[in-house]
This record gives sequence, C-alpha cells and structure tokens, in this order.
Amino acid sequence: MDLTDLSLPPMIITIDGPAGAGKTTVSRTLASRLGYRYIDTGALYRGVALAVQQAGIDPDDGEALAGLCRKTHLDFTVKNDDLRLMLNGRDVSDRIRSPQISMLASAVSARPVVRDFLLNIQRCLGSAKKAVLEGRDMGTVVFPDADIKFFLEADADIRARRRFEELKAKQTPGLNLASVRQDMIKRDRDDSTRDVAPLKPASDAIRIDSTDLAIDAVVAVMLDHIKAKASDFGDI
Ligand code: C5P
Repeated sequence: MDLTDLSLPPMIITIDGPAGAGKTTVSRTLASRLGYRYIDTGALYRGVALAVQQAGIDPDDGEALAGLCRKTHLDFTVKNDDLRLMLNGRDVSDRIRSPQISMLASAVSARPVVRDFLLNIQRCLGSAKKAVLEGRDMGTVVFPDADIKFFLEADADIRARRRFEELKAKQTPGLNLASVRQDMIKRDRDDSTRDVAPLKPASDAIRIDSTDLAIDAVVAVMLDHIKAKASDFGDI
C-alpha cells in the first residue's frame, strides 16, 4: 500500500540502532512508501572521517578537528533516486563505504566538536519534517521530540553476515567474515560506551528485533505504528 495519498501529517521519524541491523534499507523503503525524505546521518560522520583521512589529521586532536570542521561543507543530493553525499562540493558517496572509513567514522564520532558540528546540519536537514532519519542518536539527542522513534536491533552474527554480504557486493578487497564481525562489534561497543550521545534506545522508542524478520516485515510493523500515530493526529 502506498501511504503518500493518505495525507499523513508531516512527521519526524527516527530509526536508531547498531551496525548491520537493516536501518538503511528499512529507512529508505519507509521514506519512499511515505513520500518522505530519507536522511542517512551515518554518511555525515563518514564524510568527516574521509576529510580527516585526506587532511592526515589525528582523530584524537580536538583542535585540528575543530579547524577541519570549520572549513568542511557537507550536504546531500539525490541522483537517480540515490542519496549522494557531497563533501566540499564533491560526490564522495562511494569512497565513504570502506571498512577503514567505518572505523574512523566511529573514532571521530566520539569527539564533541564533530558531534556539535553535525548536530546543526542534521537539525536543518530535518527541519521541514516529512523525514526518516537513521543513525545512532536521532531519537535521544538530535530529535528528542520526534513523532515516532524506532530502535532496530538484531543478533550480532546476523548483522555481521548482512554487512559482509553488502561489502562483498561492492567487491571490497581483503574481506573476510571474521574481521567484519570483529570490527562491527568493536564499533558498536565504542558507539555505545562513548560519553557523548552514545548509541542507546530512547526511553520512548519502539524496539524491533529484525533477527528473524525480512525487511518487508520490519517495514510493515513500522507502518502500523505510523498509521496509529497519524490517526492520533486525527488526519486519517
Ligand atoms: O550508520 P553508519 O554505520 O554509516 O555510521 C558510521 C558511524 O558513524 C557509526 O559507527 C557511529 O560511530 C557514527 N554515527 C554516530 N551517530 C549517528 C550516525 C552515525 O555516531 N547519528
């Protein structure tokens, strides 16, 4: 069912969760079903990580990071229905998906100066509402008043397998399942235990375990919650 004709009220929908839980596919599908904008906030952290790598900056050097953020411009553009990340006017969407950038993104994301820099960008991106935003702290920090918050999780082995298949499809060199699993577990642990905006479900988030659920089933559960919420607004 296409919900774009149901005149849903403009809402902010957040989807947080660990790596490989299926957030990207689910968020993208949901946004397209609702006629909403999809915003991948992890791509912004990856963009900063790429800028850090290109500038040869130590991710622990707060001052150098602050200087870099001041001269970094990040934005999204849509090309052939695909969300592309622009770093200082250049499309870097393909370059930010490597395992190295995943780990560097996690390292820079623990730095308050980077989180502050991206906070404003994320809030601007969601300001028109009608947006599905995926990340780690969308429901807790960036949009604490979001209309609906989901927290998507899944068993670590399943998440590692999904991430491995994704990287394999992109012909990532030097790939093996054990190292993908190890990196993913480290990244989740670091993301969950950092001092600023750690990965955790908001107290009012709807938690969905996708271990045994296909993407369509996850989207269907979410749509039920969204429809129920929209009827609270009295619009449908
Ligand atoms: O979602 P993705 O795997 O692309 O995110 C890359 C990294 O960016 C995460 O491991 C996390 O450290 C960071 N991130 C974050 N807050 C967000 C989105 C991503 O800290 N809202």
